[in-house]
Amino acid sequence: ITFADLNLPQPLHSALRKTGMETPFPIQSATLPDALAGRDVLGRAQTGSGKTLAFGLALLTRLHGGKAPARRPRALVLVPTRELAMQVADALVPLAKAAGLWCRTAVGGMSMQRQVDALARGVDLLIATPGRLSDHVRQGTCVLDGVEMVALDEADQMADMGFLPQVREILDLTPRDGQRLLFSATLDGAVENLVRAYLTDPVTHSV
Ligand code: AMP
Repeated sequence: ITFADLNLPQPLHSALRKTGMETPFPIQSATLPDALAGRDVLGRAQTGSGKTLAFGLALLTRLHGGKAPARRPRALVLVPTRELAMQVADALVPLAKAAGLWCRTAVGGMSMQRQVDALARGVDLLIATPGRLSDHVRQGTCVLDGVEMVALDEADQMADMGFLPQVREILDLTPRDGQRLLFSATLDGAVENLVRAYLTDPVTHSV
């Protein structure tokens, strides 16, 4: 299949074409139809497989044409490290802009106040590391009750780094009936427990 077959919103499709992307990678063609249909998805995929656009295009498509941006994110991407957050933002910010959506980051090791100001100006899609997002939640500068979709990227890494308590705390603050997309290279006990607790009837795709 091509990206055109997925019926992505026109601005997203044009933005992809501008960066020379025409053909989905296997993880994208496997997961996007289910994710776009609103299903919870469990994707087993390595770094470099194209999983960023697998969840990114699903989230941005569902956000496109939605309500005006508020202080409350409607979609959330949780990643283990600041470096990965920056990579995900580099991939998704141009697509978000093309679709008229605001993508913000909330990661550790960066100015808290700048993130607070940016969130206050409006946010549709928030890319965050669990520790820093917990800080924002605790001090009331980010509210998660409007989150309709959550993507968990490199869930095994988040488990290895000891972030699952914060991840669970964050997921518990998002609406239970929201959509959840979880990507992980491996599925060990900790990640499996997370899947069982937070994904509803997930479709599994391995590439
Ligand atoms: P990721 O695994 O999401 O970090 O993606 C790995 C690399 O593949 C990144 O440099 C992406 O820009 C690139 N990429 C992702 N999807 C596609 C695609 N469908 N066509 C061409 N390049 C892609």
